[in-house]
Amino acid sequence: MPHIDSSVKLDFKDVLLRPKRSTLKSRNEVDLTRSFSFRNSKQMYTGIPIIAANMDTIGTFEMARVLSKFSLFTAVHKHYSLKQWEEFASQNPDCIQNLAVSSGIESFDFYKLKQILEAIPEVKYICLDVVNGYSEHFVEFVKDVRKCFPSHTIMAGNVVTGEMVEELILSGADIIKVGLGQGSMCTTRTKTGVGYPQLSAVMECADAAHGLNGHIISDGGCSCPGDVAKAFGAGADFVMLGGMLAGHSESGGELIERNGKKYKLFYGMTSEVAMKKYGPAVTDYRASEGKTVEVPFKGGVQSTIQDILGGVRSTCTYVGAAKLKELSQRTTFIRVTQQANPIFSEES
Ligand code: 5GP
Repeated sequence: MPHIDSSVKLDFKDVLLRPKRSTLKSRNEVDLTRSFSFRNSKQMYTGIPIIAANMDTIGTFEMARVLSKFSLFTAVHKHYSLKQWEEFASQNPDCIQNLAVSSGIESFDFYKLKQILEAIPEVKYICLDVVNGYSEHFVEFVKDVRKCFPSHTIMAGNVVTGEMVEELILSGADIIKVGLGQGSMCTTRTKTGVGYPQLSAVMECADAAHGLNGHIISDGGCSCPGDVAKAFGAGADFVMLGGMLAGHSESGGELIERNGKKYKLFYGMTSEVAMKKYGPAVTDYRASEGKTVEVPFKGGVQSTIQDILGGVRSTCTYVGAAKLKELSQRTTFIRVTQQANPIFSEES
């Protein structure tokens, strides 16, 4: 008989953060910088732990340059050639410390990953990304990459449950990407019926990872700065963003002009657009497809970053956290049936 887990699983939209008495006078007093020491690579990280997703419309070199100025991180997508990496590294030595090189699990992916890391030894992070992080093949791949790169910090995913977080950490990964079906461009839930509400996934996976001195990334599902704050409040060490960083000058994707208005194409890494563009390079994504949308053009990403950081700083002030590190300790979520007053919008 099929098993039903009837415990409640929540998404960002199901909760709000309860305000708490605070001694902070203003949000400018809040420190969003975090330092981590990674379990397997033994490397240190210091920065504001928000990551641009490794999508070719988001994790671009242009995005990395701007985000790095704010101490944010970029998981650079896997479709740049070795030559493009070399050119980039020769012009931008400073931001190299705030980025990861991404790879899928095919042998040509691994080959290119090795080439890039040999050519640019300053890159210290590897992002291993498959849609289904539950496959035995992926676990073996993580072990192989760890053997080959003993002192690089490895991000790996995606998974949504504690036992798989533990397995990947014990196989050599340092930071586990958490999220399944939550992404703005993702159709996994409707195509396959598989998924896990993001807030609960983060809470359960953070608990599992932290028990082993590992770390997690809440990957996807954020639609506003409040969601980013909720992900941190739920215990995420890092938060990865796709859609919130789409539509900017630094985002990849075609700029389209129609009736005097500008848009940027934003698509999932398994969407038809991505398939046509990269062919066999996206085969490991093929199990579930992604959407394609036209996002109104927003100009430079700097103001969006400031908006996100301002929001998270304010959250910290409301709950009395002087540092981002304290946010999850100060978090009490309350379940709600409504997020915002809908009178002047369609949203609720
Ligand atoms: P967002 O921040 O836009 O909600 O989510 C970004 C995340 O969605 C990415 O980091 C990645 O994990 C996931 N994603 C990106 N493209 C696709 C896709 O085509 N299909 C699926 N299933 N997930 C995707």
